[in-house]
Amino acid sequence: MKDEDWDCLFFHDVDLIPEDDRNLYTCDRFPKHASIAMDKFGYKLPYKSYFGGVSALSPEQYMKMNGFPNNYWGWGGEDDDIAIRVALSGQLISRPSIRHGRYKMIKHGHDKGNEQNPRRFNLLAKTRRTWRQDGMNALQYNLFSKELPPLYTNITVDIGSEKGFHPMT
Ligand code: BGC
Repeated sequence: MKDEDWDCLFFHDVDLIPEDDRNLYTCDRFPKHASIAMDKFGYKLPYKSYFGGVSALSPEQYMKMNGFPNNYWGWGGEDDDIAIRVALSGQLISRPSIRHGRYKMIKHGHDKGNEQNPRRFNLLAKTRRTWRQDGMNALQYNLFSKELPPLYTNITVDIGSEKGFHPMT
């Protein structure tokens, strides 16, 4: 968003492969949850407020909810926090039809160093109180490198660690 005046931001798990061309990679009137039907959940939502996998927000929708939380480390919970932020900022979730929003997940084990976060339920219980303070307005990072090959930009940043932001440079 610092580089360009984008009209749509996609947040995409790297292990999800879209299966249907009619699942359009565009933003909607409300924050969109595109991966409504994933093979690992039997091609249906695992629960109604599920917002994980692939989502699309306009910069305006993203800023209205103060972006995404910075206080989730390890696996799990951050997507549920985002769903809560959508509601708390007065927005609805838009979704493609269950026939079009289909994804295959490339099978893999849990990543080393990214263990399940046992604190995620406590954090989720506090989102209502924290979302205005923790988000885009509290984001800290150090730019490590920026590569510009023809088809994409690869930005690598240091975001510190669970214990705090102690940039390496
Ligand atoms: C986790 C989410 C995850 C979902 C489905 C929830 O318990 O908090 O992060 O996407 O399960 O696996």
